[in-house]
Amino acid sequence: MSTDSSANGHGLLDRLAAGPVICAEGYLFEFERRGYLQAGAFVPEVVLEHPDLVAQLHREFVHAGSDVVEAFTYYAHREKLRLIGKEHLLEAMNRQALAIAKEVAAESGALFAGNICNTNVYVGDDESKRAVRAMFEEQVGWALEADVDYVIGETFSWTEEALIALDVIKQTGKPAVITLAMHQEPVTRDGLTPQDACRRLEDAGADVVGLNCIRGPRTMLPMLQAIRWQVNGHVAALPVPYRTHDEEPTFQSLRDPGFAGAPGGRPFPTALDPLMCTRYEIADFARDAYDLGIRYLGVCCGAGPHHIRAMAEALGRTPPASRFTADMSRHAFLGTDPSLKVENREYVAEL
Ligand SMILES: [Zn+2]
Repeated sequence: MSTDSSANGHGLLDRLAAGPVICAEGYLFEFERRGYLQAGAFVPEVVLEHPDLVAQLHREFVHAGSDVVEAFTYYAHREKLRLIGKEHLLEAMNRQALAIAKEVAAESGALFAGNICNTNVYVGDDESKRAVRAMFEEQVGWALEADVDYVIGETFSWTEEALIALDVIKQTGKPAVITLAMHQEPVTRDGLTPQDACRRLEDAGADVVGLNCIRGPRTMLPMLQAIRWQVNGHVAALPVPYRTHDEEPTFQSLRDPGFAGAPGGRPFPTALDPLMCTRYEIADFARDAYDLGIRYLGVCCGAGPHHIRAMAEALGRTPPASRFTADMSRHAFLGTDPSLKVENREYVAEL
């Protein structure tokens, strides 16, 4: 049995039983844009170099409506640190990320989640299975010592790698949220449909199963519907906020008809800006997913706090940031407030 209580009261499963849970993700892209980590290796070095900024971004997402503070340990694993020659920072980076998230969760009443992710080492043979298990065990061990409320295993495109992550998490007794990342092919890299893979994960004990990353709202939603039909428990949906479509279903395959100069000929990952969803598209997605019966919702790589606020409001919430939700009635030209200059309001067509 999973233990399900948080330091602040009800745990993940109790909260899901009561209504939707929003989990902001996408810290890598946000810190890359801000200039604190490097696209390519995408290692969260900012955790050690500027812990105050990581705490602040957690706070901004909670202010915008996130119910979860997810420790920023995405890609803080042994393979990524090997790649940049900093394996000696592995434990410190994980422990620091967990401590930062725990502090913000405690001060805000949010859930505190640990995080493990795709290793980029798994290729299906026994040697890589052993390697990824060891990587998950050390990270989940640190998360357990930090007393997380639950652990997220995310962005897996191999079902078997996700199952290993799940097994390691389940041994802690904490609830497990496992999400798959679907590339252009409509099957995982080991050949399962997302609904069959999610069913397998649910049967193996995952408390929440679903999809995150890689696909935007439009190309993730049909897969979510199939998953919802196939599984019994809670389903997770955390798309990237980009306008993926049938011909270019992933953010890596997106092309920008307005600009041919992106490095490598593809907008991913640093020239996706003009292809981003507006907050209104994310609100539409949240409503559509909720109507399907999906209760664990969020936004992945590319997300900003405005996306999270729109998602929260679409689900009927009024997070603190809603105090500043747009009110165009008081705009000098587009507004309707009777005290506004009529000369400006009549000038609208000239704007
Ligand atoms: Zn992502």
